This record gives sequence, structure tokens and C-alpha cells, in this order.
Amino acid sequence: MTTDARRTELQDNLNRTREAVAAACAAAGRTPGSVRLIAVTKTFPAADAATLTELGQADLGENRDQEAAPKAAELAALGLEPVWHFVGQLQRNKARSVAEYAHWVHSVDRARLATALDAAVAVSSHGRNLNALIQVSLDGDTARGGATLAEVEALAEHIAAARFLDLKGVMAVAPLGWEPAKAFALLNECSELVRRVDPAAVEISAGMSGDFREAVACGATMVRLGRNVLGEREAMA
Ligand SMILES: *Cc1c(COP(=O)(O)O)cnc(C)c1O
Repeated sequence: MTTDARRTELQDNLNRTREAVAAACAAAGRTPGSVRLIAVTKTFPAADAATLTELGQADLGENRDQEAAPKAAELAALGLEPVWHFVGQLQRNKARSVAEYAHWVHSVDRARLATALDAAVAVSSHGRNLNALIQVSLDGDTARGGATLAEVEALAEHIAAARFLDLKGVMAVAPLGWEPAKAFALLNECSELVRRVDPAAVEISAGMSGDFREAVACGATMVRLGRNVLGEREAMA
């Protein structure tokens, strides 16, 4: 259940966030429609995700399958079908589950994961392909996920050849301690590599609550915002 107060709060946050993204677009000389806002609902209850969907926020993001799968099921039971974006590190044994509800996976970072997702979509209960973004580890420290820059082109070719995956572009998180502008400029170069494989793979998923303005200035087409829309998260165990 969502209280009226929480609904009002989410509506206000959403309005403010949309205005901030639009302002970032204007500052970069871009049209507001060129950036898709993904509200990252991780750690927040399904009721919040449902409310956001009802408020017209079509794109929702999650980073853990254990949390996302039941949340997506809960919304579906209410007749709500947002576009789910999976943005977290993903193990191959979760591919079947994620392929059932996710329309996008932003964190494809190795060929074996792409192959597992392709096979999972093939046996899924729906008929749609899965939109895939290559997550890039901009500093080459792959512990937090992501392919190295050297791996990007071959991975793009692997995904482009997968029957049930649609290669859409690239994603990154700005490395700790890096200037966001430097990180996102580098991601833009990765985007060029991927577009050499498929000119239609133009999406750039970049920017979180703390650095989305820089990301938009550097060409992001999708921003993934959690705290700006939902509020601060509890410290995670
Ligand atoms: C949590 C998360 C976000 C959103 O972060 P905020 O700082 O809450 O905006 C974006 N991308 C990924 C991959 C995340 O895990």
C-alpha cells in the first residue's frame, strides 16, 4: 500500500527530476526527448514501483534478480507493465529469470553471459527480443562488472550475431575518483566502437543521481536515477 503522502512525494520527486534532466539537456543544447529517464527502484518496495508506473514513469531499473523478479511479478499481477531495465552485475544462472521480465539488460559484459541470455530468451514465455547494452569498465577494474575497452568490439560482434538479442549500445558507471566528464567522454569513444559493428546501436546509458548532468553533456541517451526519484536508500548490508 502506498500512502497519499508517499504518492505525493514520488510525484514531486519525479517532476523535479524530469525538470533537472530537461535542464541538463537544454544546457547541452539537446532536446529533452533525447534522454530516457530510468527510475532505479532497487531496495524500495514494489508499491513504490507501482506508484511510479501509475504516475507515468514507464522505465524502471533494478540491479538484483532476487529483488527484481518478485517485484516485476507483483506489478504484473496489478496489471502494471513497466519497461524493466536490469542494470546490475548478472550471473549466468540468473539469465532465465531475468529474460522473463527484463526488456533491457544494461550489464552484458562477457560473451558467455550474452550466450546464456540469448538461450534464455529463446525459451522465454514471451516473444520479444532482449535489448542488450555492453557494460564497459572504464578503468579496467572489472571487479564491479564491465568489459575492458579492449574487449568491447569483439563482444559487440558476439551480441550482434545472437538471434534473440538486439545490440543497442553501451553502459558504464563512472569509476570512483574519476571526473565524470572524463569517464563519459571515454564511454562515448566506446560507443563509436560499438557503432562500427552496428550503426543502430546508439544508446549510451550513463549518469546516476550524482553525475547525470555530466553524462547528458557527454551524450547519454539513458540516465539511471535512483535517489533523485525515490529518496536515500537504507545502508545495504
Ligand atoms: C543504484 C544504481 C543506479 C542509481 O543510483 P543513484 O545514485 O541512486 O541514482 C544507477 N545505476 C546502477 C548500475 C545502479 O546500481
